[in-house]
Amino acid sequence: MESAPAPAPTADATADPHRVVVVGGGFGGLFATRFLRRAPVEVTLVDRVNHHLFQPLLYQVATGILSEGQIAPPIRNVLRRQRNVQVELAEVDAVDLDARTVTAMRADGQHFAIPYDSLIVAAGAGQSYFGHDEFSRWAPGMKTINDALEVRGRILGAFEMAELEEDEEKRRAWLTFVVVGGGPTGVEIAGQIGELSRRVLPKDFRRIEPQTARVLLFDGGKAILAGFGDRLSSKAAKELEHQGVEIHTGSIVTGVNRYGADVKGPDGEVRRVEARTKIWAAGVQASPLAKMLAEASGAECDRAGHIAVLPDCSLPGHPEVFAIGDMMALDGLPGVAEVAMQQGIHASSTIKRRLKGDASKPFHYRDLGSMATISRFRAIVSFKGIRLSGFVGWLAWLFVHLAFLTGFRDRFTTILGWTLSFIGRGRSERTLTVQQIIARVAIEEAGGRPFLLGLASDQSAKPD
Ligand SMILES: Cc1cc2nc3c(=O)[nH]c(=O)nc-3n(C[C@H](O)[C@H](O)[C@H](O)COP(=O)(O)OP(=O)(O)OC[C@H]3O[C@@H](n4cnc5c(N)ncnc54)[C@H](O)[C@@H]3O)c2cc1C
Repeated sequence: MESAPAPAPTADATADPHRVVVVGGGFGGLFATRFLRRAPVEVTLVDRVNHHLFQPLLYQVATGILSEGQIAPPIRNVLRRQRNVQVELAEVDAVDLDARTVTAMRADGQHFAIPYDSLIVAAGAGQSYFGHDEFSRWAPGMKTINDALEVRGRILGAFEMAELEEDEEKRRAWLTFVVVGGGPTGVEIAGQIGELSRRVLPKDFRRIEPQTARVLLFDGGKAILAGFGDRLSSKAAKELEHQGVEIHTGSIVTGVNRYGADVKGPDGEVRRVEARTKIWAAGVQASPLAKMLAEASGAECDRAGHIAVLPDCSLPGHPEVFAIGDMMALDGLPGVAEVAMQQGIHASSTIKRRLKGDASKPFHYRDLGSMATISRFRAIVSFKGIRLSGFVGWLAWLFVHLAFLTGFRDRFTTILGWTLSFIGRGRSERTLTVQQIIARVAIEEAGGRPFLLGLASDQSAKPD
């Protein structure tokens, strides 16, 4: 549905306080909300999960270094001192741009509408399996706390299964780990599985030698971490190989099942890899809300479902609606936390400017560089032409991650977890439960939606 251009809201547009609805409490939504703390507005932040997730450290939850609570504080708690915010735990499933309402479903299955004067949508992106969603059953992604706990269960469970297995070939399959995608997430998770097997687990097992585990990293491109440039990319590759990770570039995973993966190599041949644990760290798909907003406003969407926004991050014909962060496309900006945070601040400052009667300004991104950890004490950093690697790179990584972790308590316990894991050989978060591994698949098979299913007593697992 196409709608006529709406006027940008100003201070006298309504007599009541200006209502801002923020969809998503990730980096974009949280920074947008915080930037409105002294503004004469009423903010409603809606998220389908109760926590703000620090995604860059998900791989540490997946490999037992940190607990989920350390990287995912409750949004309500983070915003407890901001009096002009109401937090709603609900999933947004419709936006009416003409009526200026957002419709969301609460945990009890009830739908409700929230009216807005300004809307900031920061719903992020999910994993893309490039048209093969069936792979997800055996190769979980790395986007949510659910994913990280499932991956942790699968990795630790594989060593347990190998210890039980009598047959040598089957044991090898349990001790073979496939990671798909050579970007920062794939590299970080592969490096940590290498550390787990070589530093952490060897003394805990009697029948198997965890240090003989194979970690295979597949990437379709010419090099891993290609965005960091040739020098840092090849340094990272050397460090990873030192951790025992086998890197296969020019290799595309074309099939995944319970027992392994099919991989098409640079020579075009498809080879079978017997591996019980597969982790998918390749490809993103923007939130479905991006497509919904694009259809409603006439904006374009790219192949990965990102909505093309105007230079001030608003939608065509709707200056009061902003799409920010991982779900939008603007000037080829990357899907990183810094873009989402800066756009969140920009959208909120635009709302404040307009309330004062000032015009909006285009968004300008200040590139603060990028980084990836390879293993303990080893990281690569690219910042305004400066390239750091090794221990110095790791110190820079440490500083940035501590600075951006939300909450003092989280910082303190995180340092404890890192000390245990990096200086010692311990990993405090190694609890393994069946639910971690099979819950996602079981819920899907029951026909249910994973959104807070089962919390409300009158909600059936199988919707009509
Ligand atoms: C494993 C991993 C590692 C990463 N490492 C780095 C890194 O090292 N450095 C870096 O800069 N970036 C990194 N990123 C990228 C960075 O995390 C994202 O760019 C950033 O989180 C985007 O912020 P966002 O606000 O757009 O979306 P998100 O932070 O994903 O937040 C989206 C929020 O919207 C909510 N939501 C979604 N749909 C709905 C709905 N329909 N209704 C209600 N709520 C909804 C979600 O629950 C979520 O809370 C990493 C990402 C991942 C997955």
